[in-house]
Amino acid sequence: MKILVVGSGAREDAICQSLLKNPKNVVFCAPGNDGMKLNGIKTISIDEDEFSHLANFAETNEIDYTIVGPEDPLVNGIADFFKSRKLLIFGPTKEAAQIEGSKSFTKKLMADAGIATASYQEFTDLQAATDFLKTDAEFPIVIKADGLAAGKGVYISPDQTDAIEKVTELLDGHKFNTRRVVIEEFLEGEEFSLMAFVDHKRFYPMPLAQDYKKIFEDDKGPNTGGMGAVCPVANISTEIEQTAIETVIKPFVKELYKQGIKYTGIIYAGLIMTKNGIKVIEFNARFGDPETEVVLPRLQSDLSEIIEQILHHKKITEIEWEKTGLNLGVFAVSKGYPIKQVSGDLGSTDDFRSCPLTTNFASVRKENHRLISNGGRLYLVQTQSQTLSEAQNEIYRELDKMEQENIFYRRDIGKNSI
Ligand code: AMP
Repeated sequence: MKILVVGSGAREDAICQSLLKNPKNVVFCAPGNDGMKLNGIKTISIDEDEFSHLANFAETNEIDYTIVGPEDPLVNGIADFFKSRKLLIFGPTKEAAQIEGSKSFTKKLMADAGIATASYQEFTDLQAATDFLKTDAEFPIVIKADGLAAGKGVYISPDQTDAIEKVTELLDGHKFNTRRVVIEEFLEGEEFSLMAFVDHKRFYPMPLAQDYKKIFEDDKGPNTGGMGAVCPVANISTEIEQTAIETVIKPFVKELYKQGIKYTGIIYAGLIMTKNGIKVIEFNARFGDPETEVVLPRLQSDLSEIIEQILHHKKITEIEWEKTGLNLGVFAVSKGYPIKQVSGDLGSTDDFRSCPLTTNFASVRKENHRLISNGGRLYLVQTQSQTLSEAQNEIYRELDKMEQENIFYRRDIGKNSI
């Protein structure tokens, strides 16, 4: 099959590498990045928002189907555009992608489907939001920008003063370009991520993963796009996993269909195991990043076939996953990320080529046989091992060997979050 993957991060690198496990597949990534080329991935210099150029490429090169990695093109209607050009695409339409693009849309769907989530209020008016925080609110409280904020539009405010400051920043300062905030009950517990392949009414869950959102060890400091991930999740039992499938994914997929939304693509549920049961923190309309980098290497079935069957609405009888051990991935990010970042040299391409572990590249470029940081999350080193300590030893040995002064990584990825 000929497959086009849209996106440029470590997630798309992992999707391409999974597709390339079938030697008959030809895989292109647009725009991809220079690091991916070291992994033998063909990159195409078309940006993820250039829908007509992407569709032209797919037509001219007789691409069987396109997979969309990131949320922005989905929320902006790439699937609708491809469909209007009679091209097969794996990802939800603009309407369906609102499960990620609009927190208020998704909260309503959850209420309709009877899915447990944090109680919340929406505000567009600063005065009304401030009045609420001064009278009815309990602290800590969660303040969220409504709309896409790359995982960074969420604040946990310890007290009233901080909360008022944050809503003022969002509604008055127009940070993250939003005119609406969601003020939400603070939930406490072990967080985990559950992704599923979705074909309208049918869905196929993947194994659980856990990502590490905070920049510093012991989950301290500001939120990031994700500093690493592990799959499966040691602290979450198979009973809880089954309950999450039955009480979250199943009713959500059913409700979407009932409301006339024919969803094709990935649904990602960010969940939390509270003392009052499983609750939803968020839904995303695509593969998680960095969860995908540790989940897909455990897939033993052919990813390209799974997606092809979904796109032709054929029922899949079984999807096989690795049953033993675990996969661990650690992101190397720019020093100073996510606040004030340094960029610079990362090392020779030969250093990266000689790394015996899987590397999924993100924000890097190549200059004269060296990889240079573009800032943010740079690359993720990933391995599969029988135990967590083995996996950590392997990964940190490789990261330490690199001796790159411009990078930072957490040393505790994989530990239980409580
Ligand atoms: P989101 O962008 O909605 O995934 O939120 C990013 C992160 O903020 C989550 O992974 C949680 O760690 C945290 N968070 C979001 N909502 C809540 C909540 N209601 N209670 C506690 N933590 C939350």
